[in-house]
Amino acid sequence: MAKQQLQKNCSFCGRPQNETGMLIASPTGANICSRCIDQAQEIVNEGNEKSKSGLALFSSLTEIPKPGEIKQHLDTYVIGQEQAKRAVSVAVYNHYKRIMVQDDVDDVDLEKSNILLMGPTGTGKTLLAKALAKFLDVPFAIADATVLTEAGYVGEDVENILVRLLQSADYDIAATEAGIIYVDEIDKISRRSANASITRDVSGEGVQQALLKILEGTVAQVPPKGGRKHPEQPLVSINTQNILFIVGGAFEGIEEIIARRRKKTLLGFSKFDEEESRLKGAELLQVVEPEDLLQYGLIPEIIGRLPVIAALEELTREALRAILLEPRNALVKQYRKMFDLEGVELVFEDDALEAIIDAAQKYGTGARALRRSVEKVMLDIMFEVPDHKNLKKCIISKNVVTEKADPIFEY
Ligand code: ADP
Repeated sequence: MAKQQLQKNCSFCGRPQNETGMLIASPTGANICSRCIDQAQEIVNEGNEKSKSGLALFSSLTEIPKPGEIKQHLDTYVIGQEQAKRAVSVAVYNHYKRIMVQDDVDDVDLEKSNILLMGPTGTGKTLLAKALAKFLDVPFAIADATVLTEAGYVGEDVENILVRLLQSADYDIAATEAGIIYVDEIDKISRRSANASITRDVSGEGVQQALLKILEGTVAQVPPKGGRKHPEQPLVSINTQNILFIVGGAFEGIEEIIARRRKKTLLGFSKFDEEESRLKGAELLQVVEPEDLLQYGLIPEIIGRLPVIAALEELTREALRAILLEPRNALVKQYRKMFDLEGVELVFEDDALEAIIDAAQKYGTGARALRRSVEKVMLDIMFEVPDHKNLKKCIISKNVVTEKADPIFEY
């Protein structure tokens, strides 16, 4: 015992006291030398830098990508939807600018620019949000509003959205607090939606209220592993003040509300114009006003927290064709690459692509159906190709799509 006391070692590097010089002892009996203290300090500093990186994403205002640059990036993933891409680019630019200057601005309150994306299913709402998060290199999470419930009901607590973001940030709280959350199907929790259930919040209003809290900025206590809050599970505080929320929905039927409102105001000003009244479908979505959303059943507070509204259009044939061929992750590019890895050139004939688009349009789920149609065509072929020795080329013609004929194989 006496010997041990004479020969103290640093509990971290193990060196004896005669090499380390002074050792600082802890009440629990551990010792640390000055070199290890310095190293520990460095590690702590690095850790702080790293976790600050979420918020100090851009170290100066000039580093925040300009709206034009953001849009350029979105262009590589999202076909068409020009108006939505522009609106989102500006909103995101403003969002991060606001975070950067929030300490300097004391006389003006810069409001968070959460975004509402409206448009039919499969037109790129989720894709837009995802592409954005990828470009900005911030944590990203997707949630479905229809599975959320008011606390106490059967379903998912709204805070679980934050858990997902925290997980995507690898539990880095500072990064989480600068992340992006996409909440899908927001229209399905409108007051008028008829998803009646006994165990669920029937009106949807309660869910909107719960969502509102994290949307407008609160310090939420979340169970880091998700699920219900248990007394034995320590909670993590997440400030949602700087989290950018993008909410999306198809808002089926809102066109009528918009048309009715427009007709009324135009008539009110007694300059009802033929041209104006002719706006239809997607064009009407472009002129949506907060009062239409109120009519649709969103609560005013939520609408107030969604200052940026962008409409996505139904995809045209040309857009669907471009989606097959052009984005960085275009389906045709992906299949070509996979065949390439087998040493086979894959060719889609033009009318085969047209037939794929025909099939996709029948589903009525936008570009989402493209994947389904291509996969249907390619599955058997993908199964067979590795067995073909010395295969050089595989040509997909129209009848492969329409009649399940065999492709043309060239050796
Ligand atoms: P939603 O509007 O329902 O959120 P998604 O963004 O999830 O639709 O689209 C489903 C898939 O369809 C995407 O993963 C993408 O492959 C494709 N897609 C949809 N719209 C576009 C678009 N405008 N440009 C490129 N791909 C698109």
